[in-house]
Amino acid sequence: MEIREHVPLASFTTLGVGGEARFFAEPRSLEDVQEAAAFARARDLPLFVLGGGSNVVVSDEGFSGLVLRMRSTQLSTEERGDMVFVTAGAGMVWDDFVVYAIKHNLFGIECLSGVPGTVGGAVVANLGAYGAQASDTFVRADVLDTRSGEPALKVFENEQCDFSYHDSFFSREPGRYIIIRATFALSRDAGAIPAYRDNRFDMTSLAVSLGRAPTQSEVRAEVLRMREEKGSLIMPGRISFKSAGSFFHMPFVSEEQYALVAAKAQEIDAAKEERLRPWAWRQKNGSYKVAPGFLLEYTEFKKGYVRGDVGISPRHTLSIINVGEGSARDIAALARDMQDAVEKIFGIRLEREVEYIGTIEG
Ligand SMILES: Cc1cc2nc3c(=O)[nH]c(=O)nc-3n(C[C@H](O)[C@H](O)[C@H](O)COP(=O)(O)OP(=O)(O)OC[C@H]3O[C@@H](n4cnc5c(N)ncnc54)[C@H](O)[C@@H]3O)c2cc1C
Repeated sequence: MEIREHVPLASFTTLGVGGEARFFAEPRSLEDVQEAAAFARARDLPLFVLGGGSNVVVSDEGFSGLVLRMRSTQLSTEERGDMVFVTAGAGMVWDDFVVYAIKHNLFGIECLSGVPGTVGGAVVANLGAYGAQASDTFVRADVLDTRSGEPALKVFENEQCDFSYHDSFFSREPGRYIIIRATFALSRDAGAIPAYRDNRFDMTSLAVSLGRAPTQSEVRAEVLRMREEKGSLIMPGRISFKSAGSFFHMPFVSEEQYALVAAKAQEIDAAKEERLRPWAWRQKNGSYKVAPGFLLEYTEFKKGYVRGDVGISPRHTLSIINVGEGSARDIAALARDMQDAVEKIFGIRLEREVEYIGTIEG
């Protein structure tokens, strides 16, 4: 496998910003990954594993170590009754995996249609949308641990991955674990799949409007339509923006904090607060999940905001976009200003969901 030097990274990310990787390789097999890990180890280089680059901002100064852009895309299947265990190479484009499942009448991931990135990245982020998440169907992954004496291949079962909302065990030590392939349990039985529902999507209402259960392709079409409407799609022939998806996590706040936010919003603009309901959802533990887009509506950082070559998607307040020749510095500065503005009004610091690679202030 070729290890190249000084490779520009911007085009391998969905935001399209960032400098060069000092070293860069595109492993297609476990052996390639092992070779690359040995190369980095021998030179004491930091390692960064890049999937589809859809959840990262690469520094304008680039990355001084070795970037591994995962390209393994092999698929294999194992039948077990109504279930089919599908194993996909970590470098496979996530949406290609979804399309494969739909074509083969395998249920379980159709609600995750149209999310950019790779299978490996989906496991790391516990990809979630429209009430479904990768961990619902994820069974296990073969993972190279680059820091365990000699790099060793380990199997991580679902319960070992410590999945939570948009997070997993693998994100805690960047560069240590390299997911080689991941296995998902998909079902041949449509009835075995729960009706996915969240605050934006209810499969039952789709069924009601059709007068029957939707097919997987109809679920996919509906999800893609909603994603495009929200500016959350990057797909040829569809309205797309250069973004990294939602830049900030949904904050969870205590009941008292929630009451303070509601009172503050009412005080500043009561009509807006009423118009934008629901903007918070009570959780089982009594806390509230708050829509960051609602908080941003009380700042200058609204949909369609533009500052130089970066801005906010005209379709999605949480999505910072590159509208021209934007840089990582511009993006980080805008993100910081958005965090400061929300904190100043509501006392809540929005937490970044997107990962910064290399040195970026902010
Ligand atoms: C338009 C748009 C819409 C989006 N919508 C959603 C959404 O609805 N729901 C959602 O959850 N996310 C969403 N995202 C965010 C993003 O698509 C997901 O987080 C995705 O899973 C990231 O995958 P990736 O392959 O691009 O990872 P990258 O961005 O390349 O990397 C992200 C992290 O994963 C690590 N990683 C990647 N592959 C591997 C591997 N093989 N082994 C070890 N570590 C690895 C990287 O080192 C890095 O730490 C969206 C992004 C965009 C641009």
